[in-house]
Amino acid sequence: MSEKLSERKMASEFEWQVTEKVRETHDTYTYTLTPISASQRFNFGIGQFVTLSAMLKRPMASGGFEESLVNRAYSIASSPTRDLIELTIKEEKPYGYINPVTKKSDAFAAYFNQQVKIGDKIKLKLNPSKEHFLSKVNAGIEKNIAYWSGANGAQSARCLIQYMEDKKDSEQNLVLFYSNTKLSTENDNSETSNIEHHPVESLNVIYFNWLIDAAKKLDNLKVIFTFTREQEIPTASKDSRVSFRKGRFFLNPDGTPERTLSKYGNNIKTSFNPVCGSSAFINGTVRLPDGKIEKGKGILQNLIELEGIMPEKTDKEQFYLQQVGAK
Ligand SMILES: Cc1cc2nc3c(=O)[nH]c(=O)nc-3n(C[C@H](O)[C@H](O)[C@H](O)COP(=O)(O)OP(=O)(O)OC[C@H]3O[C@@H](n4cnc5c(N)ncnc54)[C@H](O)[C@@H]3O)c2cc1C
Repeated sequence: MSEKLSERKMASEFEWQVTEKVRETHDTYTYTLTPISASQRFNFGIGQFVTLSAMLKRPMASGGFEESLVNRAYSIASSPTRDLIELTIKEEKPYGYINPVTKKSDAFAAYFNQQVKIGDKIKLKLNPSKEHFLSKVNAGIEKNIAYWSGANGAQSARCLIQYMEDKKDSEQNLVLFYSNTKLSTENDNSETSNIEHHPVESLNVIYFNWLIDAAKKLDNLKVIFTFTREQEIPTASKDSRVSFRKGRFFLNPDGTPERTLSKYGNNIKTSFNPVCGSSAFINGTVRLPDGKIEKGKGILQNLIELEGIMPEKTDKEQFYLQQVGAK
């Protein structure tokens, strides 16, 4: 290996090109990336993430725009068994949001989704940690999986589902518990009972149609959707491996505790429970408007306290710290 190549491999910085850009929801896109040459390809495991770098033009309070290099972490949403990499990028901070201290925009996703197009080249760094939240799944040590995802947190589950499609390991099974506020951004919910191929422009749930199709194909996949603000929820057919429920996981409609894992999971004693999403979803931690951190309870505490799951049968990947007052 040349000195230059070995340096780049150590720093793990690679150049890949956007070959497809697909709208997932009103604020989310999935990008397909391909290495610009064979030397840029790298191996990765289920649950790993990359750091993306892109030159983005972002607004300033003064009215102008500033172009700079911006980085963010993204979980790989496609299986290591496939040649291309897919990344799904959701806009958390609204377009035009100006940081009150720096008087500039400090967001990434809204500008990336607006400015990056097919053909553009992007720098990727693979996070080298071998101890990530799905490392035991990747190593084949845990095969009975209950994956808990917040609204932005299902990317690694998509990676795993593609892997299951390709490997067809009859011992591996996944129950995806997926929490979102509502199915659609439209106020009128009259169409929500039509669960097939909901229009993406108003869809609020990342991979909604894709997951329903995947559960039809794979008999070792179940998907449990919950909607925390929806008035009407879709109806699932009786024999479907997809369920819809209302309200937070671990809470019955009357406010009493629900043992959600026992109700929908498979062989809960052996289940491994990775949790992915915001700090509020994982363990009830939020940042208050005055900057103080408040700790509550989230999926992890509920799994341990209500279901008796051993802490070593859980793991977590936090995408961001939830701010109270922000969405
Ligand atoms: C290991 C890891 C893997 C990740 N994988 C993915 C992934 O696969 N896909 C993905 O989309 N994201 C992923 N993320 C998060 C990602 O890095 C970005 O944070 C996300 O895309 C949002 O980007 P943004 O530019 O909109 O917001 P950012 O500038 O990154 O800021 C996010 C912060 O903004 C706050 N915020 C939300 N709304 C508002 C508001 N109205 N006003 C002010 N602040 C607000 C949130 O509370 C949060 O703390 C991952 C993060 C980590 C650490």
